[in-house]
Amino acid sequence: MTDTLVFYSGPDPFDDWQDALRPHLGGDVRIEEASHVTDSASVRFALVWNPPAGFFDRFPNLKLVINLGAGVDRLVARDDLPDVAITRLSDPEMGRMMAGYVLFAVLRHARDIPHYEAAQARREWAYRHPRAMEDITVAILGLGELGAMAALEVARQGCDTHGWATRPRDLEGVTVHSGEEALRPLLSRADIVVSMLPLTPRTRRLLDADAFAAMKPGASFVNASRGEVVDEDALVDALRSGRLSGATLDVFESEPLAPDHPLWTLPGVLITPHLASTALPRSAAPQIARNIRAVQSGGKPVNEVSRTRGY
Ligand code: NDP
Repeated sequence: MTDTLVFYSGPDPFDDWQDALRPHLGGDVRIEEASHVTDSASVRFALVWNPPAGFFDRFPNLKLVINLGAGVDRLVARDDLPDVAITRLSDPEMGRMMAGYVLFAVLRHARDIPHYEAAQARREWAYRHPRAMEDITVAILGLGELGAMAALEVARQGCDTHGWATRPRDLEGVTVHSGEEALRPLLSRADIVVSMLPLTPRTRRLLDADAFAAMKPGASFVNASRGEVVDEDALVDALRSGRLSGATLDVFESEPLAPDHPLWTLPGVLITPHLASTALPRSAAPQIARNIRAVQSGGKPVNEVSRTRGY
């Protein structure tokens, strides 16, 4: 019997994913776009990014939902999700891409680049002696698959690197803090705070006015995870008041960021349009195929998402 893997994504091209997956899947798995499914009953696997409401109702024999990305917040928040295993992309290349973005953002602040950009606009040679990397404390909030790679990359630069997660863990060169009570003390000592937290009921607006007030005066903020982890009005206030000296932001409460949003023009702020890391078909395909084979043979997929935790 042939199983079908149904594909749905607004931004990701079907042909690229089909070409990448084909060599890794057996002849007993057909790959079809959601709009061209020939036999709904044969659909056992879904590779999806934000499918429309009611999408899953069409496929009564689904066994596995694969989120076409690392962030599962929108998927697990749905009320029409079938009771089947959920996995996410878990791809080292995606991690490397994210680590590269975070490293760029951390260096931007560690090396005072916003100061030089402003000086250049004034045609001013505004030398500031670079700080020693070991004197710069960086706090990475969230040490998951992408967050941990980012933290290791920052630690390799010699920064005093700290991480925060729910559970303690070992990460070379990174001092790991865990639990809610550890957050404020960590925020108060960091020169650069980076959010790599998934969006869950517990992290929504975790970085609010109180959190920004707890940060070191003049600290910088980087958000490469989800905009809703931050109270954006509080972030704007913290930047306006000078409490924060700058920010590098890839994600926002509402995307695309509205043209009249104050973040566009605040000094020291760099906006990028949600591109810190993307799903890469060729490097993600082997992991997706492994999980499909595991489920086909009655086993469990790896990197299963916990619906109760929300990540
Ligand atoms: P994971 O799901 O692998 O890990 C999440 C991490 O956050 C874990 O370390 C977890 O702790 C920690 N965490 C979760 N909740 C809390 C909490 N309440 N308090 C403290 N720590 C918490 O995430 P990834 O690293 O793979 O990815 C992070 C996020 O990046 C994704 O959820 C997604 O939203 C975003 N993303 C953004 C992209 C972009 O282009 N901007 C691209 C891809 C992803 P513990 O280890 O103890 O479980």
